Amino acid sequence: MTPLRLGATIGILGDGQLGRMLSQAASRLGFKVVIFGPDKESPAAQVSLASKVAAYSDEAALARLASTCHVITFEFENVPAASLDFLVAQGTRVAPSSQALRITQDRVLEKSFARETGVATVDFWPVDSLADLEAALKQSGTPALLKTRREGYDGKGQVWIRHADDAASAYESLGGRPAILEARADFTREISVVAARGWDGAVKAFPIGQNHHVHGILSTTLAPADIPASMASQAHDIARKVLEGLDFVGVLAVELFVLPNDQLLLNEIAPRVHNSGHWTQDGCLCDQFEQHIRAVAGWPLGDTQARFKVEMTNLLGPDILRWPELAAEPSARLHVYGKDDPRPGRKMGHINRILD
Ligand code: AMP
Repeated sequence: MTPLRLGATIGILGDGQLGRMLSQAASRLGFKVVIFGPDKESPAAQVSLASKVAAYSDEAALARLASTCHVITFEFENVPAASLDFLVAQGTRVAPSSQALRITQDRVLEKSFARETGVATVDFWPVDSLADLEAALKQSGTPALLKTRREGYDGKGQVWIRHADDAASAYESLGGRPAILEARADFTREISVVAARGWDGAVKAFPIGQNHHVHGILSTTLAPADIPASMASQAHDIARKVLEGLDFVGVLAVELFVLPNDQLLLNEIAPRVHNSGHWTQDGCLCDQFEQHIRAVAGWPLGDTQARFKVEMTNLLGPDILRWPELAAEPSARLHVYGKDDPRPGRKMGHINRILD
């Protein structure tokens, strides 16, 4: 695609902190950004040229967005894929594609795609009824993890099943929604790859991040991870296969489990910039947000080499109230998302500490 000219307008579906940081990166490259989302004073709307408050399925509002944008992207994987199809039908460029979104917003389609692409995953079984779950548990054994197929994040929509007798209560706790049963991965650590692909098929990946979760929510990322070079290159190969298999344009993240024998299993694909890539803001010359903007704008992909080793720590809920102390730390940079209510567990900001 012809590179977007300076001053062109980029539309972003989704108005959270990822949209905010994408918008800031876009504006530094001279683009204008219009945010499309449900909240008037959202983190993303606060820093953007314009924002449109509408439901993601509001076709009249989507058509107006399409008429003002040169390219449209998203920061949230639960936008309806049909809305992306609608935008494309208006004649606007959209990246990543609706097909990539459809696959990655459904855990069963995502893991099936991974396996077809030659990427290993945990064993899994689609669950559409209690009978499916009981049959699946006979094969998986316990403990096993029941997750909703769609719309789960930060450990929400997931329940561990420790005994086969708990099947009915677990199924009910997810509201009987379409689900997936996953065998437990006995991982030694969790790592992730954030990587980008352009319209021309060029691929660039950032160094690997090592992630630590608490109660299913990312707590810290250490990057570049302390892993053997061979494991890093295996993880990069997986990211390339995923990007190419999805014909992806933009940045995505692949979360991986490392097994005791060093085998890597794909846990999840996030079809967007990702929390485990926030370290790149202070560790790399071109961060994941700028990289995504470059990719969707048809610009050359930026430099992904790590300049610093970084530990990123999420500031959840009341952690943000410690901002005066955090802001005074040497060799650290504080990133705040502009949210009012520091509810427990809510992502309010993060801090990147330079380690060397
Ligand atoms: P997810 O939302 O699927 O990324 O899951 C959130 C976190 O739960 C992961 O980062 C893991 O720490 C844990 N987890 C998810 N799936 C599994 C699994 N199959 N086996 C063991 N732990 C898991």
